[in-house]
Amino acid sequence: MTLPDTKSPTAAGSGGNAPCGAVLVCGGGVAGIQASLDLSAAGFRVYLVEESPTIGGGMARLDKTFPTGDCATCIISPKLVECMRDYNVEVMTMADVASLEGEPGRFTAEVRKRPRGVIPSRCTGCGDCWEACPVRNVAQPTPAFRPSERLAADDAAWIDGILDRYRGDPGPLIPILQDVSDDRRYLPRPVLEHVSERLGIPMVEILRVASFYNAFSLEPVGRHVVEVCLGTACFVRGSGLLMERLEGEIGVRMGGTDPQGRFTLRSVRCIGCCALAPAMRIGGITFGKVRLDGVAEILERFQ
Ligand code: SF4
Repeated sequence: MTLPDTKSPTAAGSGGNAPCGAVLVCGGGVAGIQASLDLSAAGFRVYLVEESPTIGGGMARLDKTFPTGDCATCIISPKLVECMRDYNVEVMTMADVASLEGEPGRFTAEVRKRPRGVIPSRCTGCGDCWEACPVRNVAQPTPAFRPSERLAADDAAWIDGILDRYRGDPGPLIPILQDVSDDRRYLPRPVLEHVSERLGIPMVEILRVASFYNAFSLEPVGRHVVEVCLGTACFVRGSGLLMERLEGEIGVRMGGTDPQGRFTLRSVRCIGCCALAPAMRIGGITFGKVRLDGVAEILERFQ
């Protein structure tokens, strides 16, 4: 199929040192995308070079935009689509500008593209390659110990009781992990190894599930989880300072648990009460408009 290339690379001139009607844009972030669309609208042929596998840059990884709090994805998605569908913009991902020669109005660039391992024009995004990936699906090495020998007798009886409750159920892994997490507040490694052995599920698969959900933790968690909202509204109203005060009061850095096992300190994004910013949550209770000098008093309520 021949695309209707309405604006030739040499539209503004031909041969010699005449200006070329093509532009090379380096970087496929939101600035590069917008520049490409504007240049295309102005009548230029655009080559958009991006080193990563996709365009979108840092904005595609953001949650909200400042200061409006709009969803970043909702803003950038139409531009991504517009850019990919613009016949005058050629997007070159996984590519680097190797050399640039010439003078203003007529440069010659050498662009090196790195291999993707797939044919992009045929990829439908089905994801089957993800499942079949030989790097991701690493063969599980044979453990050098019998996993169950690491469990104390009481613990073995306890986890066997949970496993027996789900005997015969299809796909029991997540409910089992939930029961373990409810009881221990985290997923101890020896327990997971015992589950792996009993269910015949490779440890790599159990760890994949356990590390995917925020509800599970592979590290010990305190009796009370303190979550500070670092979403846009809370952050501009001082939740960064609130986090620092909590780190001082509890004596751990963000993500840690104090040695007494009383508190685990975490950050969250947008807990849905921007009007109460800065906000924090402890054990499901939300505290809004938190003042730094009120932090110690709030923590006192939790033993
Ligand atoms: S398996 Fe599916 S997602 Fe992977 S490259 Fe092929 S079409 Fe694309």
